[in-house]
Amino acid sequence: MATVLIVDDSRTSRKILGDVLRNMGLEVVGEAVNGEEGFLKYKELKPDLVTMDITMPVMSGLESLLLIKHENANAKVIMITAAGQKENLMQAVKAGAEEFLTKPLEEAEVRRVVTEVLAK
Ligand SMILES: [Mg+2]
Repeated sequence: MATVLIVDDSRTSRKILGDVLRNMGLEVVGEAVNGEEGFLKYKELKPDLVTMDITMPVMSGLESLLLIKHENANAKVIMITAAGQKENLMQAVKAGAEEFLTKPLEEAEVRRVVTEVLAK
């Protein structure tokens, strides 16, 4: 069973993602509410996949992505973004993000992207 770490400062987004991922048969091994906590939990839990919100307090998803990729260049990270954050998306691509999901999150799209990334 593949393991997933959810990093998002929005409780609602964590709940939506967690429900979809668990319904897919994945194991949500941890949740974090900012980029710093996300990085620390990544190192501790070594999940197969990370979902990473971009806009968060303390440390952004982009900074956290860079730290995770520095720790493990093969880490699989899906960035979660609000609409209209094109600049952030381009930076995340350069930093090695696998894929993107846009809020509001739709179950079918989450399933499609997560399945695709885990199959790589
Ligand atoms: Mg956020």
